[in-house]
Amino acid sequence: MKRPLVTTTLLDYRNSRRKRDALADATPLEDGYWREKTLEQMSEREWESLCDNCGKCCIISLEDVDTGQLHLTDVSCKLFDTKKCRCSDYADRKKYVPDCVKLTPKNVPKLDWLPQTCAYRLVSEGRDLYWWHPLVSGDPNTVHVAQASAKNRTRPEGRLKTPGLIKRITQWPAPLEAPPAKKRSKSPPRRRRKER
Ligand code: SF4
Ligand code: SF4
Repeated sequence: MKRPLVTTTLLDYRNSRRKRDALADATPLEDGYWREKTLEQMSEREWESLCDNCGKCCIISLEDVDTGQLHLTDVSCKLFDTKKCRCSDYADRKKYVPDCVKLTPKNVPKLDWLPQTCAYRLVSEGRDLYWWHPLVSGDPNTVHVAQASAKNRTRPEGRLKTPGLIKRITQWPAPLEAPPAKKRSKSPPRRRRKER
């Protein structure tokens, strides 16, 4: 790999300046709306609910300038709180990370660094959401259970420069394809008396 470039994988999806539609935003979300609507057609609420909060867009990746291939590291943006799996200073993040990218229906198809599992990317490519997405599972925790998030898997960039980042290139685990089987009870099996 030669002279890799640091690619900023930063996101500003919650500040999209989409037109507010009070009625649409007050209406309960329809089941499977992401299968029926384009990103462009979504209300603000639908748009925001599409994020599964995986945090993977806050991870730094390196681009091989020769091949264009992206290599994920286990290093995140300095504002990413890996324990909470979210931005630690979202309101003021631009002060510290001015290149946090604003996600819009127009730029999503062009942002090749968006994770393959990003819900915005999936919808923009006409694909369905995975089982762990809170809109599918009804549980905001399943994205972590499925190993599809950056929770507890990153360290902040600190003063790392490109050579240090190269050493942090990591193979991220593939998310689980299905929910894990429920843990078996640890209590010993109950003895049953023989019936006479
Ligand atoms: S500033 Fe916040 S939202 Fe933007 S990339 Fe960093 S942690 Fe993520
Ligand atoms: S779903 Fe997409 S926008 Fe939301 S946190 Fe994950 S990668 Fe970022």
